[in-house]
Amino acid sequence: MPWPPLVDPGPPLAPHERHRYARHLTLAALGETAQRRLRAARVLVVGAGGLGSPALLYLAAAGVGTIGVADDDVVDATNLQRQVVHRESAVGRPKTASAAHTLTALNSGVRVVEHRERLRADNAAAVVAGYDVVVDGADSFATRYLVNDACVLAGIPDVWGSVLAFDGQVSVWWAGHGPCYRCVFPDPPPVGSVASCADAGVLGSVCALVASQQVTEVVKLLTGVGEPLVGRIAVHDALAGTSGVVPVARDPRCPLCGAAPTMTTLTDLEEACRPGEAAPLVSPADLAALLASAEPPVVLDVREDSERAESSIAGSVHLPLGALRTGGYAGVLDPARPVVVHCAVGRRSAVAARVLADAGYAVQDLAGGILAWQEEGLPVERGVREAGTPAAAREAGPPAAREADPPVAREGGTPGDPPRQRADRHTADSRP
Ligand SMILES: [Zn+2]
Repeated sequence: MPWPPLVDPGPPLAPHERHRYARHLTLAALGETAQRRLRAARVLVVGAGGLGSPALLYLAAAGVGTIGVADDDVVDATNLQRQVVHRESAVGRPKTASAAHTLTALNSGVRVVEHRERLRADNAAAVVAGYDVVVDGADSFATRYLVNDACVLAGIPDVWGSVLAFDGQVSVWWAGHGPCYRCVFPDPPPVGSVASCADAGVLGSVCALVASQQVTEVVKLLTGVGEPLVGRIAVHDALAGTSGVVPVARDPRCPLCGAAPTMTTLTDLEEACRPGEAAPLVSPADLAALLASAEPPVVLDVREDSERAESSIAGSVHLPLGALRTGGYAGVLDPARPVVVHCAVGRRSAVAARVLADAGYAVQDLAGGILAWQEEGLPVERGVREAGTPAAAREAGPPAAREADPPVAREGGTPGDPPRQRADRHTADSRP
């Protein structure tokens, strides 16, 4: 399937440019016309950190004519282990200025635009405007969702990468051509559930592995060469020395790029995250003990019907997350009884627990979900059909968030949970 180039070629190359980019011009798939497209292109890199640094260097070296750098941070000595666009002499300086200095020294023929600000709902559209493609090297979920949303609303591709420890992932989110980030990761992970690179560490060269693939995708998109990673996530396990590609699908119910979008303007994520309000966790063994006590809690399963049919905790009440979010719990739960909420692995239940806590329920969240319960050897029922849950309540809400594993931020991911497994589990969870 041919992908048209994003950028029209500019004027013919000068002799010194033909010399400089000779190895590109020799590539049959690229040639001089592609190099002219690169020179005419405008690429925004969000974050001049672990991913942004090598990406910026390769974009400048490749001759991308206009390179935007968005970052509000200053260079710290701990950055130098992987953020290779910064020098020791730049410690304490703004990352945008440090990056601009290095890039201009590398290639005086490129224009570097500094956006020394953190992307927010009130500035993201203006920053993204005028760029042909965005490279996401953001350090927070709030920024990652904002980059995606701004790209969808601007109609341009978001070349996304994430790394943690020895693992990396790359994809191209491009509404209208494939899924956007929200299609695949509809909700941010619960606060505190995802480790950061500061917590878990990251091998610097793995940042380069991911960032160089991001730049390769940018070059492909700008010049119309090859098959971009639209609708696919490339996953790298550097310790195992393996790489793979996992297909991901557009969600027609996506609130941003779906058939009936409800998100038509940019919003900040911080409010939704509400740090510090996560419900207390209860272990499977402790829940089993509570259920055997004289005053057992209500166990609330917030998974979908098909998941519940496969396995459920005896006596549990069922209300999918989507219905719970729209108030469906009112006719199902007794406010006087404590509730333990669970899903498959704990992502949806964390969201549900916050909703119920806000509504005044005494609520705990089953750590690790029903999978952890089963791994402890605790009993489940299989093939249970619904009884006692008002169908109207279940059908009242929007479709529940699917239990994709958390997207990765802060160059981050979930330690001990290889991305291949995560992506596999995501695609399994994405079945209609
Ligand atoms: Zn979408």
